This record gives sequence, C-alpha cells and structure tokens, in this order.
Amino acid sequence: MTDCLFCRIVQKQIPATIVEETDQTLAFRDINPRAPVHVLVIPKLHISSLMDLKPNHTAALLAIHQTIQKVAEKEKVDTTGFRVVVNNGKDSGQAVSHIHYHVLGGRRLNWPPG
Ligand code: AMP
Ligand code: ZN
Repeated sequence: MTDCLFCRIVQKQIPATIVEETDQTLAFRDINPRAPVHVLVIPKLHISSLMDLKPNHTAALLAIHQTIQKVAEKEKVDTTGFRVVVNNGKDSGQAVSHIHYHVLGGRRLNWPPG
C-alpha cells in the first residue's frame, strides 16, 4: 500500500535501520525506542492488524517468529529475555496500520505494561 508507512519502509522509500531482512519479513529499529533493544518485526505483506490475519498467513506468521528469534540472537537478548508486543486497535494505541511485533529487551521490563 502506497499510503502505508511500513510498506514504504519495506520498499526502501523511507530509510530505517534494518536489523534483519528475509524474503517475507523486515526487522528495523524503532525510531522512538522504549528500551535498549526495541526492534519492530513486520511482514513485507501488508496486513493491517492482528484481526486481519487469515489462514493463508500461516507462512508469514512462522517467518515473523523466526525473524524474532534471529533479532533476539543478534541483539544478544536471547538468553537474558525479551518481550514481544502487538498493539491492536484504538485502546492499545496502535498507531501504524501494518501489523508489527515490538521486540523489547536489554533491561528489566515492568509487568503489567501500562
Ligand atoms: P504502535 O504504537 O504499536 O502502532 O507502534 C508504532 C511504532 O512505530 C512506534 O513505536 C513508533 O515509534 C514506530 N515508528 C513510527 N515511525 C517510524 C519510523 N519511520 N521508523 C521506525 N519506527 C517508527
Ligand atoms: Zn503496509
């Protein structure tokens, strides 16, 4: 989608600090990091939110999880631990309508989140 910020990052029309890229996924640093490690993992395919996931997205979902593993290793939080967050809809504060998995770590994370 041309009017989607994250699709434009996938298409390299907007710069981002890329941590990992596969044929189906892109992982890049959040522009406003909330933890020492704050990486966004997205499918290259435009999926608006978790509520738009369909059975034909199975491969993309596995690929996202594999990219999260890779990011955790690269960022050295695979053994110390990390959190994966998907905001969905208005009450969660979801600001970008292209599904994205926040990978947060590098410090002790509070629970429950705000
Ligand atoms: P959410 O609130 O879950 O929709 O998260 C959107 C995230 O995208 C926020 O954490 C923003 O800081 C981040 N963000 C917005 N624009 C950019 C950008 N151009 N590059 C990287 N991260 C961005
Ligand atoms: Zn998009």
